[in-house]
Amino acid sequence: MRRGALVVLAAAAALSACVPYPADQLPADQQGSSLPSLVSGVFPGLDPGAASQQSLHFQISAYGPDFASQVAAMAEQDYSRIMTDTGLYSFQPSGLYQIVVYGAQDEYQKKTGQPQWSAGVTTGNAIYVYQSAEMPGVLAHEMTHLIWYEFMNGNLSDQQRWVNEGLAVYEQSQASNRGQEMFTLLLPTLRSAPIPLDQLENMAPNTENGYQASLWYAEAEGLVRFMIERGGRIGFAQFLTSIRDGKTFDQAVASGFPGSWRTLDDVYQDWKRSLQ
Ligand SMILES: [Zn+2]
Repeated sequence: MRRGALVVLAAAAALSACVPYPADQLPADQQGSSLPSLVSGVFPGLDPGAASQQSLHFQISAYGPDFASQVAAMAEQDYSRIMTDTGLYSFQPSGLYQIVVYGAQDEYQKKTGQPQWSAGVTTGNAIYVYQSAEMPGVLAHEMTHLIWYEFMNGNLSDQQRWVNEGLAVYEQSQASNRGQEMFTLLLPTLRSAPIPLDQLENMAPNTENGYQASLWYAEAEGLVRFMIERGGRIGFAQFLTSIRDGKTFDQAVASGFPGSWRTLDDVYQDWKRSLQ
């Protein structure tokens, strides 16, 4: 079965393994405005006896009622952090998101058919992950993609991929309490030879070598972090809303951060200076 636009997203523990919008999986009507029907998940669920827990925005399946409650609390925390960081308080999801937490990687791989490196996958309105130390970060990463997809009404373009991934990695780092040190090793390269803006917008990280892909993720995350933490969350929400409404990046920057920046290149130059 063909899954629509971004409906297949995989995030691995290794950042470079998140493979958003593979070109051959973009829907023919990617310019259209219709939201693909949200399904409650196409992969087999947990084994009999698993617990189920409902929270304000999520329906959780996991092994053990206590663990299911923990995941529900974690998911709600992620959700409100993402809302706070993006300023999208007025965003109303259309229904409960499903979260399935498999017991271990082999169950996850067997039931979802995902590759060895995949740590999470999103289809329709459901997130599939497995229990591991990385799970909190992966959950936040995938959740950001779900929310972004729904916020954008399913209208995605390759040029906006850096915003989606940058935000997902930013939320991943917040959830796993790792902050900027995720990319410490790449900082010297970001300082001396960052990826030019046009390449950031047009590069498909899954076609690049691991180092170049990691650099792309690091830079996308850095720019998103800079806009959120320097420009402010209210402005960032306006920036995202303008993008959703079809504005250019420059128009979105000007409308979100008047007084600070006029163009995306202004943001980029300021961000580069901040690394020195
Ligand atoms: Zn991702």
